Amino acid sequence: MYDRPGCGTAVRALRDRNAEVLRVCPGEARGVGDLMLLSNSFSPGQGPLEHAMDALAALLAGCRRVLFVPYAGSDPDAYTDAMRDVLAVLEVQVTAAHRAPDPIEALAGADAVFVGGGNSFRLLRAVQRNGLLPAIRNRVQTGMPYLGVSAGANLACPSIRTTNDMPIVQPASLTALALIPFQVNPHYPAALRDGASAIEARDARLREFLEENDVPVLGLCEGAWLHVHGTQAHIGGTAGGRILTRGNEPRAVHPGDNLTALLDTHPRYDSPAP
Ligand code: ASP
Repeated sequence: MYDRPGCGTAVRALRDRNAEVLRVCPGEARGVGDLMLLSNSFSPGQGPLEHAMDALAALLAGCRRVLFVPYAGSDPDAYTDAMRDVLAVLEVQVTAAHRAPDPIEALAGADAVFVGGGNSFRLLRAVQRNGLLPAIRNRVQTGMPYLGVSAGANLACPSIRTTNDMPIVQPASLTALALIPFQVNPHYPAALRDGASAIEARDARLREFLEENDVPVLGLCEGAWLHVHGTQAHIGGTAGGRILTRGNEPRAVHPGDNLTALLDTHPRYDSPAP
């Protein structure tokens, strides 16, 4: 979809990983499989992913084997065990990438991939090193369902430039899966819960991103998710968020809103505002 052979010379010229210049082949952003990108796992008073269970059941319907990718977390073993318990009600078998002798082979044997939260830099470095980054991209582009929570939602974007995380490790570049042609910012503050000053502080950082990159950012509040199904995109969950774009006031989005137009975005990274 992005930066791959067949996209023309403009894209081929941009393969320098360190320069990390991203481009989209127009039209190819649409028609990916099924993506569910959640802001968070925990909602107040609920167990992990409980707030999203019905949507998860729909996403994973027909899937028997899920590859869990826990590299962002501090304790991948414990995280895997917890997610295995959570997904047991859906009768799917969970295999952990970090325990697999060959994570690429484990992906090949899976029907869906679930990328968990934690630190986005640690996650990206791990999947760059073991080759899962292109492997996951290829599988999802040919229809494999992708579930991403928080750092896993960041990984689905063209870049992890809009993570809230600290760069605790150094990935080879910030280029990520590019399963969607815009950015997500998870854990986006909500007015009632977090207050106006939290929103101002977050928006100030996202505006800096927009000064350097002409790419929409979807801030997802806790409880919200983005669901991309084929050529359609919607907000799901118990909360919404805001879309920030260069030169415009942030726009609120609510559960059920149709965000399909965002899939037609032609993102321009490293394109400073004049
Ligand atoms: N640290 C977050 C997570 O829970 C990611 C983020 O805030 O960007 O995965």
